[in-house]
This record gives sequence, C-alpha cells and structure tokens, in this order.
Amino acid sequence: MPGQTPLPIAFPADPAAGARVSVLHPKPRVLCLDAQGHILDWMSWQDAVCLYVRDAVVWTLGEPCITVHGGHNRASDRQSVIELHPIVAARGHAKPRALNPSPALSNPALFARDAYLCMYCGREVQRAQLTRDHVHPISRGGRDVWENVVTACLACNSRKGGRTPQQAGMPLLAVPFRPSWVEHLILSNRHILADQMSFLRSHLPRRRRPQA
Ligand SMILES: [Zn+2]
Repeated sequence: MPGQTPLPIAFPADPAAGARVSVLHPKPRVLCLDAQGHILDWMSWQDAVCLYVRDAVVWTLGEPCITVHGGHNRASDRQSVIELHPIVAARGHAKPRALNPSPALSNPALFARDAYLCMYCGREVQRAQLTRDHVHPISRGGRDVWENVVTACLACNSRKGGRTPQQAGMPLLAVPFRPSWVEHLILSNRHILADQMSFLRSHLPRRRRPQA
C-alpha cells in the first residue's frame, strides 16, 4: 500500500479553528475505510485531519487532494502541514454488522436513486415537484421500503392515486431496488474525486457496474 503521510508537528487541537486549508472548492470529502479496506463512509476533511493527528491512518490511496497548514513548532519554527489523501484507511476493523448497512430511505436518497426522473412518465422535473410514490399503495398494505417506492412527479402521483400501476394503467419504467451501501455513497456525494469514483465503482454490485 502507498506510504503513510508523516505526522505533523504542533498541530492545533481543533484543526477547523486554527488550520489554513489549501483545497479545491467545494471541499471534497474523504472516503474512509477500515484497515482491511472495507468501505465505511464519507468523512469531512476536519475528521480526516483528526485521524492523521491521532496516528490512526494506516494506509492511503490516491494523490493528496487537500493540504492543511497547522501551527508552528516553537523549537524548530517549522509549520505543520498535512496532505490529506482522497481515500484513507483507519486503524482497526469494522464490526461485521457495520459493513454494507442498508441505506436509510429518505426522499433525497430516493430521488437520487431514480436520477430525478418520474418513474411513470420519465420526465425530469423540478425537485419541488418530485414525490415518493408507493407502488403498492400503503392503503392496500404496501410498505414504505426501497423495493416499494419510486420517484414520481406530482401529476403522475395524483393521477395514480391509491391504485397499483396495473390498476391505473401506468407501467413503471424501472423496477425499484434497494441501493447497496456503495451505490448510496456514490449517490449521496456530488463532488466525488476521480480516485474515489474508480475505487467505489470497482466495489459496485457486478450487475450495476457502468459499461466503461
Ligand atoms: Zn410523471
């Protein structure tokens, strides 16, 4: 694995308060893994700095993407600098049940899964017009789970009402699915760096890998 970044000197206790950051805008997030390479979650650059300072980074992937300047060491008058890498493996390993958790079903996550398209008419509509439709209606015993919800525009949702797609004569354009944790990480971050994206793509379920 690529080398570990040397520990900084005299770094302020709260990096967000005292540090000066050289970084692209908007600030990318760091992808955090456990020491075995299991994907955990996105992490803010401030939290990533804390990992470096605590000597908890065991290996990294990708070219440095954020440079953080810390305080001066009184003895040497040298300023501490940390170069954050886009993918960071932290000391320790995740508990098995913490791996690949099921992503929470929220409207932003649902709309992202469906690429902000209405799953009935196929139109891309403004966010304010997007709704969560229960394919098998709740009133008929349908559940509020990933496999039973789709993105629908207001017009299609009200037209469908409390009916199934078959009853309403409104076939679905795609079968709803529960995103894997990796898919969720891709969908929930709009500013993924190239190194992070290629790493995440290599961990996608095989059937949903983009043809590249
Ligand atoms: Zn529609």
